[in-house]
Amino acid sequence: MNNYEQYCTKFVQAVGNKEGAISPVITSSAAFGYGDAQTAEGIFDGSVKKPLYSRMGNPTTAKLESIMAEMDGGVGAVATSSGMGATTLATMSLLEAGDEIISIGGLFGGTYALFDETLKRFGIKTSFFDVDELENIKNAITLKTKVVFLESVGNPNMRLPDIKAIAAIANKEGVALIVDNTVTPISISPLALGADIVVYSTTKIISGNASALGGCAVFRAINDGDDKFKSSRYEFMKKPIKGAGKMALIPNAKKRALRDLGMSANANASYQTLLGLETLSLRLPRIVQSVEIIAKELSKQGLNINHPCLESHPHHDRYKNDFSLGCGTLLTIDMGSKESAYSFINKTKIATITANIGDSRTLALHMASTIYSDFDSKTRKFLGITDGLIRISIGLENPQDIIDDFLNAAK
Ligand SMILES: *Cc1c(COP(=O)(O)O)cnc(C)c1O
Repeated sequence: MNNYEQYCTKFVQAVGNKEGAISPVITSSAAFGYGDAQTAEGIFDGSVKKPLYSRMGNPTTAKLESIMAEMDGGVGAVATSSGMGATTLATMSLLEAGDEIISIGGLFGGTYALFDETLKRFGIKTSFFDVDELENIKNAITLKTKVVFLESVGNPNMRLPDIKAIAAIANKEGVALIVDNTVTPISISPLALGADIVVYSTTKIISGNASALGGCAVFRAINDGDDKFKSSRYEFMKKPIKGAGKMALIPNAKKRALRDLGMSANANASYQTLLGLETLSLRLPRIVQSVEIIAKELSKQGLNINHPCLESHPHHDRYKNDFSLGCGTLLTIDMGSKESAYSFINKTKIATITANIGDSRTLALHMASTIYSDFDSKTRKFLGITDGLIRISIGLENPQDIIDDFLNAAK
């Protein structure tokens, strides 16, 4: 049974209730009554498992978190207000001033700015590497390196990492590996490949229809014996995780990030995200198949397409071996110049012009003039942003309709 089939059963069974209201209940309350003083004390010391305050957790959100954790084989998850919230939560819960991040692969613009501008202001240094620079990555890890960060698929450069090899380096050096798996939920399982934390923007393919902004971080269990998080590198974790055992990364994230930075998910967004999850395992394989059909045909017709399903792509073998369930909804078209790219964007009738990805509808955006307009030319080059680059996120439409429309738009 492939991954997608397995999740078809899991998701619908987990989202719906067997008794009472079948659709998940939205608990739209910011605060919760404790009843008496002893219960209040128990809720605050963690011995009573009841909601404390919605910044720290909400019953609707908890349902989403438990399904996301199971989806990735994690011990627990923390849902957040956005994908950037999840990345901020996961990184800030492990970092302090003077620490270093190793960032690998083509990076989402917001994450790049977080590392290179915002965290830099707080004394955290990030070094950026291409996915194939394994030797340089190994050599760059110092005692101050607390996070290795990786995107499962370079967005928008479409380069594919050898996640297992990178995880082996991080594990050997005793550094946390965080994988942004936004583009490849259920088709790639980063924790099984050796990562410690997986982050998602659930805004994208997981909710799948632009109905809710959201994010989620999924955490692995701490091992009983030796574990890198028990080493002196993560000394600061001793206090927040005291007594938390294998769950330790969750209170660490909640106390060191969620409680103080407040990127908490809201119940209505969690509900919308749960509805999206129900059909994720049907939508994603359909789109992955369409992406291949469209990339191959448009390439055959002479368009400059970047997608690893094409034999000309440097990571074509990795795509076939390690990404056998596809690499998500994206492909890019390089139209050669800004003028030609604008002409395509203004002529396409099917694509919706927006910065989002992973929608039911096909989406398109010219990269250099939008998300990457703030970046200097050296950074754009590193991230693979050329003047004519259009990022496409394929939707649920008939693939031939998309091909016809795109060929017309490219004329
Ligand atoms: C969109 C996106 C994010 C940020 O998510 P938001 O929900 O917009 O905050 C992070 N990583 C990747 C790969 C994304 O596509």
